Amino acid sequence: MEINKDHLSEEQIQVTQFCGTEPPFSGKLLDEKRKGEYICTVCKEVLFDSTSKYESGSGWPSFFDAAEGKVSTRIDNSLGMTRTEILCKNCSSHLGHVFPDGPKPTGNRYCVNSLSLDFITHE
Ligand SMILES: [Zn+2]
Repeated sequence: MEINKDHLSEEQIQVTQFCGTEPPFSGKLLDEKRKGEYICTVCKEVLFDSTSKYESGSGWPSFFDAAEGKVSTRIDNSLGMTRTEILCKNCSSHLGHVFPDGPKPTGNRYCVNSLSLDFITHE
């Protein structure tokens, strides 16, 4: 499937296509607290729900769970660390990383760049 990327900003391309990271506490969705869905900014697939979002203190939007079957993972050994990268399963855009230090019930922390997401509120 050919995915149109013409709508992306330079910053969004850097993060989603080249595994970039936005500066902590810079993201537009960090303090978003309304009910709604977080979608892939590239292909518009629903990836996270507001019910899974929580304040992790990390400086990036954080979720303890992802939409079932919508997020894929791969091992990332860059920067001298072994981390688990998360990607949009539909279009392979980089989202961020998942860490095993999240809250119950999953124990996972999906640490996601605001630049990889768009938000659709139900309110
Ligand atoms: Zn996508």
